Amino acid sequence: MFFASDNGGPAHPSVIEAIAKANGGYTSAYGAEAGMDRVRSRLREVFEAPEAAIYLVATGTAANSIALATLSNPWDTIFCTSMAHINEDECNAPEFYSGGAKLTLVGDQDAKMSPDALRAAIAAEESRGVHGAQRGPVSITNATEKGTVYSPSEISTLTGIAQDFGLKTHLDGARFANALVSQGCTPAEMTWKAGIDVVSFGGTKNGLMGVEAVILFDPDKAWEFELRRKRGAHLFSKHRFLSAQMEAYLADDLWLDLAARANATCARLADGMRAHDSVEFLHEPAANIIFARFPRKLHKKLLEAGAQYYVWDGDAHQGDPDEPLTARLVCDWSIGTEGAEAFLAAMRD
Ligand SMILES: *Cc1c(COP(=O)(O)O)cnc(C)c1O
Repeated sequence: MFFASDNGGPAHPSVIEAIAKANGGYTSAYGAEAGMDRVRSRLREVFEAPEAAIYLVATGTAANSIALATLSNPWDTIFCTSMAHINEDECNAPEFYSGGAKLTLVGDQDAKMSPDALRAAIAAEESRGVHGAQRGPVSITNATEKGTVYSPSEISTLTGIAQDFGLKTHLDGARFANALVSQGCTPAEMTWKAGIDVVSFGGTKNGLMGVEAVILFDPDKAWEFELRRKRGAHLFSKHRFLSAQMEAYLADDLWLDLAARANATCARLADGMRAHDSVEFLHEPAANIIFARFPRKLHKKLLEAGAQYYVWDGDAHQGDPDEPLTARLVCDWSIGTEGAEAFLAAMRD
C-alpha cells in the first residue's frame, strides 16, 4: 500500500539486468559509447524526429533546468503554473542554471495552464522595457503534478499562444509515459506535432534507476545544451550505465507497458474509492495520481492499516474526526492491483 510517490518503488528488474550487462569490458565514456547511439536512434524513431538532439541526465531537475536554461536568456522570465515542479520542487535550479531567468506563474484549471491566463501573462511582460524581465519560454507538465492530462490539442492551443509571441515551449515529461497511455496518442502528437520544442522525457518515476532524456526537436541549440550540461556537472563519465537503462526502457515498449500498469492501478483505486460516499475527488484522475478528500477518521484508519501516502493539508492524527483532508495517492508500475485492493479493503473495514 505504498502510494507516497512513484519514485519510492523499485527499478524494473530488466533495467537492473541491463545495468549489470553493461558492466563488462571497455567502452568510450561521456555518451560516446555505442549504447547511446542506439538510444538516440530508438528515441528518434519513437518520436518520429530524425533530426532531434538527444541527451541523458540522471535527474528530472537537471533535465528541466538545463533544458530551460538552453531556451532562456538570464534576463528572461519562464511561464509556468504555480504547482509546476520547476516552481515548487527544484530549489530554484531553473533560475540558477539559466543564470537569472525568473518564473512567471500563470493561472490554471486543475494544474493545466489556462490559455487566456497564458496570453494575458505573456502580454503583461515587457511593458517596462529595459527595466523588466523579457519574455522567455513557456513550460508545461504532462501528466500534470495533480494527475490531470493535457490532450495534444490543448497543448497546441498553448504552444500557439507562445508562438504568437515568438516564444519556445518546454514539456516537463517526468510522467510522459503515463500521459501518453492516458491519451492514446503518439509521442510525436504529444510533442513536436503539438508545437513543443523541448521535452524532458522521464524514466525514473516509471521504472528506471535514474535517467531522464532531454529531446530538442530543433538541433540548433544542441551544442549549447551540451556545454550547459557539462558546466552544470551533469555529463556522466560512465555514461554507459545511463544509456543501458534507457535502452532497456525503450526495448519492447517496456516504458509504455509500465505506465499502463501504473495507470490501471490508479484507475482501479479511483473506482473503488468512488464507491465511498465520503470520498470526493479534487479532479478526475487521468493518469497515475489521485487527489481526494475524505474525513480524518478514514485517513487514520488507512494509515494505521499501513497505507503510505501524503496527507496534503493537515494532520491525520489530530483534530475533528469528520474534517475532510486531502490525500495524494501516486501509483507506480510495481504496486499492481493487489496494492489497490488492499487499500480499498482497509477503507471498507
Ligand atoms: C519527479 C518530478 C520531476 C523530477 O524530479 P527529480 O527529483 O529531480 O528527478 C520533474 N517534474 C515533475 C513534474 C516531477 O514530478
